[in-house]
Amino acid sequence: MAKTERVGVYPGTFDPTTNGHMDIIKRGARVLDRLVIGVAVNAGKGPLFSLDERVEIVRDEVTSLDSGRLGVIEVKPFDSLLMQFAESENAGCILRGLRAVSDFDYEFQMAGMNARLNPDIEILFLMASETNQFIASRLVKEIAALGGDITSFVSPTVAQRMHERLDLKSVSE
Ligand code: ADP
Repeated sequence: MAKTERVGVYPGTFDPTTNGHMDIIKRGARVLDRLVIGVAVNAGKGPLFSLDERVEIVRDEVTSLDSGRLGVIEVKPFDSLLMQFAESENAGCILRGLRAVSDFDYEFQMAGMNARLNPDIEILFLMASETNQFIASRLVKEIAALGGDITSFVSPTVAQRMHERLDLKSVSE
């Protein structure tokens, strides 16, 4: 019998991509044949980077991964319901990262609602690795805006982009 392709969607705002996101991407792509990273519009979160920029940042980060042992990784923007996006990608699962208990309430509720929308798509959680437990895009942005060192949370390319963006912002304010 032909083996069916294991496809998963990893959705998020990725504003910007942190080492925590990259860890989930690498680990997810090890167990999936195709991982589609879905970059959500999420205008409500008032992102620092536009949707196109966030897609470009994730793409850049992904190309720097060692592709040996990893499934195919794709990066796509989406502005629909997550379940609709997952269905359009023929995904069998949705991948999420779990940090501390604070993530749990939100993820628990979302997983329950999404399971009602499509019970055939499993929601899989990967625990954040020990070194990335505390990393959150929101905090990285706050630290960068106040001139703190963000090099242990994001890649050098992302750090550079953040500094450029924040310098520009402070000039225009
Ligand atoms: P969202 O707006 O959906 O919360 P994020 O970009 O903040 O989007 O996060 C996307 C996913 O990545 C979520 O499942 C989140 O829990 C996970 N994630 C974020 N930071 C980390 C981290 N440091 N370690 C593991 N998972 C993380």
